[in-house]
Parts: sequence; structure tokens; C-alpha cells
Amino acid sequence: DPVIGVLALQGDVREHLRMLGECGAQARSVRRPEELAEVDGLVIPGGESTTMSRLAEEFGMLEPVRDQIKRGLPAYGSCAGMIMLAQTVEDGRPDQQTFGGIDMTVRRNAFGRQVDSFETDTDIDGVGRLRTVFIRAPWVERTGTGVDVLGRAAGKIVAVRQGNLLATAFHPELTGDSRMHRFFVTLVVAGATSTEE
Ligand code: GLN
Repeated sequence: DPVIGVLALQGDVREHLRMLGECGAQARSVRRPEELAEVDGLVIPGGESTTMSRLAEEFGMLEPVRDQIKRGLPAYGSCAGMIMLAQTVEDGRPDQQTFGGIDMTVRRNAFGRQVDSFETDTDIDGVGRLRTVFIRAPWVERTGTGVDVLGRAAGKIVAVRQGNLLATAFHPELTGDSRMHRFFVTLVVAGATSTEE
């Protein structure tokens, strides 16, 4: 079984661990570089990206995670995790850092300007129709050429994939539906068996 870590600096770590366990992965929390080195894939949970950014620096995880992602570590970020995987953030704090990896610009708290949280049904390419939960969620304003748009809600891009990096503005970990996590586990397993370029 693939070993999949959940970055456990801040956010809804437990919900992701439970989902990954349901999908047949060996799920464990990751807080230190040594723990990061042992996983085949990494989930970055929902929470608060400015806090996560600060804690990543404090725990010495900013560079190690950036570096592993550059080296091809599969990663999936939900909500704040999506922000952490973005190359560029709009409406972030001035000193806010991201891991990057996905060539996109996200706008923080974008939906939140109208309504703090909402649920809707969203078609996600390769996954199906999902009940999607948005909580002070970002949306994606720009995607680079290597980025596939997997889904939209209210006309805005809310799910993307670039190679083995996946990001959603919503929180599948807060529903009983594990298909989004299953999709990520499949990417991790495929990445583990593909030959190095
Ligand atoms: N608004 C949060 C942020 O900027 C994200 C909210 C969430 O993860 N539910 O990080």
C-alpha cells in the first residue's frame, strides 16, 4: 500500500487521515522533514493558509516540502492546501509563503466575500459528480498551460491537476465520499510505478 502523509502543522488533518485510510493507503501525519522523506504522497489539509505558511517556516518544512514537490512528490491540497500549492496568491498576507508546484494564481477567500460557506454539486473530471463543501474557499483565477481544469462551481475553477499535483477549493474530507481521495491515491500509485525521466 502507498504511504501517504498528511501535513500536520494546522488544519483538518484527522479527516484526511481517515479518508486516506478508507482508500487503502497507509496514512500518517507529517510534521518533520524526516517524516516527509518516508511518504509516497502528501496531502495538505484545509485550514488557514497564512497560519500554515508561518508554521511551515517555524517547523523548517517550507523548503523541504517545496523541494520534494519539485522532485516529483505527488501532492493533493484542499482549500488552504490548494493555496499552499499555488505559485501565486491574490489577497494573501504580504509575507505569506506557498510551497508552489501548480502553475496557477488563486484568490484567497474569494467565495467568502459573498457568503462564508456553501455546498453544491460539482462535476469533477475523472472522479464524477461530488457534493462539494466550500468554507471561505479560494478560487483559481489563472492556470498555466500545464494545468488541467477538473471542475468549476459558480463558473469558477475549483479543481485542477498538474501532473501528479491535485488541488480542490472544496473539502471532500468533510463528506462521506472518498472518491476524490481515491483519485489521489491512484495518482500516487501510478507515480510510484512510472520510470524516472
Ligand atoms: N480561507 C482559508 C485560507 O485562506 C482557507 C479556508 C479553508 O481551508 N477552509 O487559508
